Amino acid sequence: MTGDEFFERLRKIVEPYYRHVHHDKGHVERVYKLALRIASELKEPVDLDVLKAAALLHDIARSMEDEGLVDDHAVEGARVSRELLRKLQFPEEKVEKVAYCIEVHRFKNDVKPETIEAKVLQDADRLDMLGAVGLARAFARGGWANVPLHDPQVPPKERYDGHSATVVNHLYEKILRIKDTLHTEPARRIAEGRHNFIEEFLDRFLKEWEGEI
Ligand code: FE
Repeated sequence: MTGDEFFERLRKIVEPYYRHVHHDKGHVERVYKLALRIASELKEPVDLDVLKAAALLHDIARSMEDEGLVDDHAVEGARVSRELLRKLQFPEEKVEKVAYCIEVHRFKNDVKPETIEAKVLQDADRLDMLGAVGLARAFARGGWANVPLHDPQVPPKERYDGHSATVVNHLYEKILRIKDTLHTEPARRIAEGRHNFIEEFLDRFLKEWEGEI
């Protein structure tokens, strides 16, 4: 078992990498907490060293992708993480396991994770796109990229292609589909209330948009 001290150190090292409001250190901390919660509610054993390291490192290259410096933050994040963990003398037999979780965590790549740690990380990451926090993040990201809130002339696409014309369309095209992509039972349970909250929000938002309420 790798001690708390190791993860505190890792936390400090990764902090400067999380530079954008939609993937900031708050996101990392929430994913970390959700991942540990899901793991504690699962019946099968989970390697917590692998899961904690993967949670702290999973979006390490995300800002670089947003800044146009790398193509795929999952692939680059796995590479940077391997290097960093080896430098910090993280148990060698676990380095690849962490890198695997990071490589497959990405929603857009639609890769089915095979290890329990990768499944839990992907679920925790996806849960942070749902509920009140998920909504706040979606609109924060929209503001960051100057995407309109809504446009009744532009209906949501049938299939999410990585870009949405408005934040409301993003909620329909991506966020409301998340609950059906989860791998673990605890995550599906947590997703329910969060999913319903987004639906209620949209219902009210669209009525307010038309001046009905
Ligand atoms: Fe993430």
